[in-house]
Amino acid sequence: MQKLDPRGRKVKILATVGPASRSPEMLARLFKAGVDAFRVNMSHGEHGDHEQTIKAIRQMEKDFHRPIAILADLQGPKLRVGKFKDGQAVIRHSGHFTLDRNPEPGDETRVQLPHPELFGLLEKGQRLLINDGKIRLKVIRADENEILCSAEVGGVISDRKGVNVPDAEVPIPALTDKDRKDLAFAMHQNVDWIGLSFVQRPEDLAEARKLMGGKGALCAKIEKPMAVRRLDEIIEMSDGIMVARGDLGVELEPQEVPPLQKQIVNKARTAGKPVIVATQMLESMIESPAPTRAEVSDVANAVYDGADAVMLSAETAAGDWPEEAVTIMHRIAKQVEQDEAYLGRVRFLDTPPDRTTADALAHACMTVADTVAIEAITVFTGSGSTARRVARERPSVPMLVLTPSMTTARRLGLLWGAHAVATKDIGSFEEMIAKGKRMALRHGLGSAGSKLIALAGVPFGTPGSTNLMHVVTVAGDELEKHGE
Ligand code: PGA
Ligand code: MN
Repeated sequence: MQKLDPRGRKVKILATVGPASRSPEMLARLFKAGVDAFRVNMSHGEHGDHEQTIKAIRQMEKDFHRPIAILADLQGPKLRVGKFKDGQAVIRHSGHFTLDRNPEPGDETRVQLPHPELFGLLEKGQRLLINDGKIRLKVIRADENEILCSAEVGGVISDRKGVNVPDAEVPIPALTDKDRKDLAFAMHQNVDWIGLSFVQRPEDLAEARKLMGGKGALCAKIEKPMAVRRLDEIIEMSDGIMVARGDLGVELEPQEVPPLQKQIVNKARTAGKPVIVATQMLESMIESPAPTRAEVSDVANAVYDGADAVMLSAETAAGDWPEEAVTIMHRIAKQVEQDEAYLGRVRFLDTPPDRTTADALAHACMTVADTVAIEAITVFTGSGSTARRVARERPSVPMLVLTPSMTTARRLGLLWGAHAVATKDIGSFEEMIAKGKRMALRHGLGSAGSKLIALAGVPFGTPGSTNLMHVVTVAGDELEKHGE
C-alpha cells in the first residue's frame, strides 16, 4: 500500500513568483496551499523585487519551520527583432520579409535583427519563428547583411518580439551579459537552484557551473532541439532538468512535445536527477478560477509519468487565481497518488540499481517497504545523494530526509517523495535511531508500533559511504519524549 507524505503527495509543486504573488501574505498562502519550491523568473522584474521575494521566502521558512527551495531562472539568449515605425507592422501571408542589420525602424517589408551572429549562419530553407511561433518565416536567401524570407504564416509583428531559430545551432554564449549579472545576484542571494534557459550544448552548463563557484544546483531547461539531440550529455552535466514545454513547442512542433516529455522525464529519472514538467499546466487559470478538463488531465499525466515536480508559471506569477491554481494542482496530484494503479504506472520505468552498495541499499529500501508495513524511510545524508538514489526507486512510502545541511534540505524541495528536515548532526548509531524515530513522530510519519527504515553511512559524515539499513519499530513511550 502506498503511503503519503505530510503534504499528502510525493510529487512536488514549483510555483513562479511575480506581481500576483510577491507579497509575503500571498507567498504564505501559496506555501500553505502546497508550494514546495518557488521560481524567481529573471526575465521579468528588477533585482530589488527579487530580493524582497527571496527575503520573504526565507522568513517563511522560519515561520513554518520548513526548508523551501528557490530556483532563480535565467532568461538566457532569447533572440528578439528590433523596433517598428508604428510600433508594429503586418507581414502578409506568402509575402516577402527581410531581417537586416539596419537599426532604422522597420515596416511591413523589413526590420532589424540585432544579433550579428545570425547573419551568414542561417541557410536557405531554415525557419525563423516570431512571437511564440505565431509568425513563420522561411529563409530564401541569407548573407552577411540580409536574411530574405518568405512568410509561410504572416501576421502582426511588433517591437522587440521574440525570434526562435530551431534549425540552427546559434553560436552565442548560453549566458548573456544580463544572465551573468542575474547569476551573480542569485548566488549572492544564496538561491538553491539556477535554471539555465535555451541550453544547446553541455559546455553551456560547464560555463554556468564555473560562474556558480561550487554553490547552488543547476537545472537545465530543455527547450531547444539541439538540447534534445544532446540530452544524455546535458543530463549528465546537470543536477536537475526542466521540460520547458513553452519554448520547446515553438522550436519544435507542438505534437512533438508529449513524446519528448516522456523521453526526458524517463532519462532524468534513470539518472536519478529531479525533473520538472513545466508550462501551461493550468493555463486557463490565469483568468478563470477553474481549470479545463484537459489541463487537469495534463497535470495528472505528468504525475503518472513519475515527474519529480510540476510547475505553475503565469498562473501564480501574474494570474488572477494564484492560490486556487496551487490548490487545484495539489488536489490533482493527491488524487492521482491515491489511485491503486499509481505506483505500478510510475514504476513502468525500469531503473535497475547501479552496482554500488548505496544503490543496492536504496533498492532494498523499496522492496522492504513493499513487503512489510513501513511508515517511512529515514535517510541520513549530507549532500542529498542518498536521498536521490532512494527517490529514484520510487518507493511506496515517504522519505524523511535528515541532514545537517540546510542547503541540502532546501535543494530537496524539488525531489520526489522527499520530506527534508535540517537538523543537528548525529554522532552515533544509537543517536541516529533515536533521532529518526523522534523526527518521524514529530513530522507525522509514524506512531507507536510503526516500523521505519533507517538508511545511513557509517562512519557518519563520510560522503558516499551509505552502507547501513536498519528496520526499527517505534515504541509507545517514544511518543512522549519529542525533544531535539
Ligand atoms: P520560460 O521557460 O517560462 O522561462 O520561457 C519555460 C518554457 O519555455 O516552457
Ligand atoms: Mn522558455
